[in-house]
Amino acid sequence: MKILVTGGAGFIGSHFIRFLQKKEVEIVNLDLLTYAGNRENLMKDIPFVCGDIADESLVNDLFEKERFDAVVNFAAETHVDRSIADSTRFIHSNVEGVRVLLEACRRYQVHFHQISTDEVYGSVEGKADENSRLMPSNPYSASKASADLLVLAYYKTYGLKVTISRCTNNYGSHQYPEKLIPLMIQKAVSDDKLPVYGNGLQQRDWIYVEDHCQAVWEILQHGRYGEIYHVGANCVKSNLEIVRMILKQTNRTEDLIEHVCDRLGHDVCYALNTDKIEKELHWKPKMMFEEGMMETIDWYIRYFRKRNKIKVS
Ligand code: NAD
Repeated sequence: MKILVTGGAGFIGSHFIRFLQKKEVEIVNLDLLTYAGNRENLMKDIPFVCGDIADESLVNDLFEKERFDAVVNFAAETHVDRSIADSTRFIHSNVEGVRVLLEACRRYQVHFHQISTDEVYGSVEGKADENSRLMPSNPYSASKASADLLVLAYYKTYGLKVTISRCTNNYGSHQYPEKLIPLMIQKAVSDDKLPVYGNGLQQRDWIYVEDHCQAVWEILQHGRYGEIYHVGANCVKSNLEIVRMILKQTNRTEDLIEHVCDRLGHDVCYALNTDKIEKELHWKPKMMFEEGMMETIDWYIRYFRKRNKIKVS
């Protein structure tokens, strides 16, 4: 099996490539190396193409040359705050990029798997299931919801082999330090203030990144075409709980917490019902949150120290 992984220099994509290396598959990594793509995440023995998923001629040439069996699309602009400041790149990569990949998959009859997000439902009460209404609140989540609709349209219109996974918040190593967990660890170990949006009571379900990778692998192998699968860990925490945990683990006090003006349109709660993937594909997350977080915090402390980004005490 030959798989094109897009966005493989980013957080989850690079974990997925590490995961695939233990399987009998050939991998090609296509990534534009935006600010969020990290060269250190590239692996020596994995063929790498530096390019844009929305570059039609580059994508077509690659498909002609490589003859893939499947594409797993992690490539995207992913930071909500940046999408609120300017959504241009989000529409380009997250919508037009998906269209270009879908067209190539259609031409070469390749299975397309889209990595999507729980944010497409907007803020929920209770848990969203796969048929819940799409109510994205910000340009990032709207671009991801748009892509999902496009993917499903290619299934209905052309019978293209497609699958979609919608996952909750991931945590783990190798994430660009603008997102909550690595950012707060970096601030804590530098004895800087930890900026918490509003009251900090926004709730997210947190899943260990390797559990997400396993779920994608199960869907790739056994998922039904045209279907959406939720991936989550049933581990809902408020942002404030996460920040307090980081402070405790880094031996810092809560005086470092600074409540700042809330994000525009900030969703209060994301949570997913994951019955479908558990029943159909017998997938369940394995990592316990406390253990995964300890490992993650230790990893970032070492990472920031190596790069002299923290005061070494
Ligand atoms: P990331 O920002 O860490 O990495 C994104 C990668 O995509 C980067 O390497 C970047 O260089 C690359 N990229 C961006 N635009 C590109 C383009 N036009 N062409 C080629 N490469 C491009 O993102 P992540 O957190 O690893 O997220 C990966 C996917 O998972 C995204 O689609 C995101 O919507 C989804 N997702 C993320 C989370 C999470 O908690 N991080 C949760 C659910 C879903």
